[in-house]
Amino acid sequence: MKELEERIRRDGIVKPGNVLKVDAFLNHQCDVKLFDQMGREWARLFAGKQIDKILTIEASGIGIACVAARHFGDVPVVFAKKAQSINLDGDQYVTKVYSFTKQREFPVIVSKRFLNPGEHVLLIDDFLANGKAMEGLIELCHEAGVVVEGIGIAIEKGFQDGGAKLREAGYDLQSLAIVDSMNPDTGAITFREA
Ligand code: 5GP
Repeated sequence: MKELEERIRRDGIVKPGNVLKVDAFLNHQCDVKLFDQMGREWARLFAGKQIDKILTIEASGIGIACVAARHFGDVPVVFAKKAQSINLDGDQYVTKVYSFTKQREFPVIVSKRFLNPGEHVLLIDDFLANGKAMEGLIELCHEAGVVVEGIGIAIEKGFQDGGAKLREAGYDLQSLAIVDSMNPDTGAITFREA
């Protein structure tokens, strides 16, 4: 998606350790107009699919998933929580995920009330790197007996293996920008051609 690629080129900062910082428009300050364009693009890419619900993971997935939901008939958005809380009562689906950016394991938790067997779900997240966050969400979906209709990612880092693994596994993965290389010394970023 050209608008997203241009924005990454303009405001993205390449950090050491294969980390792309996009807090000017996605991870801290949010460009809601860009989110809306992203939502419209996912709706086009997943047109014709039954999407009953969007599932994402806190925190940065929430904003993009909520704006995207407006383009999928205002379906509910559920976000997986990364910490137990006294507000999380009753039965839960829980798994553990290794965080690429935080370099530690954390739990991924969804209340059983919000994933119902037979529902068709679209998974959305801001970044795809090694695919651990998505694998965690997929595991919860399987446990819940919901159908993963597709996976919408804002920025896939194509030089890490998450995308290849998910495509090989047969998931309909649609990334709006795929970064093929990024250089922390020069700041240069190249994108995969659509
Ligand atoms: P994965 O689980 O695919 O290895 O990593 C995806 C998760 O790690 C995303 O939810 C995102 O929050 C975070 N992440 C991975 N790579 C980056 C990155 O380059 N920049 C930022 N801002 N977050 C990233």
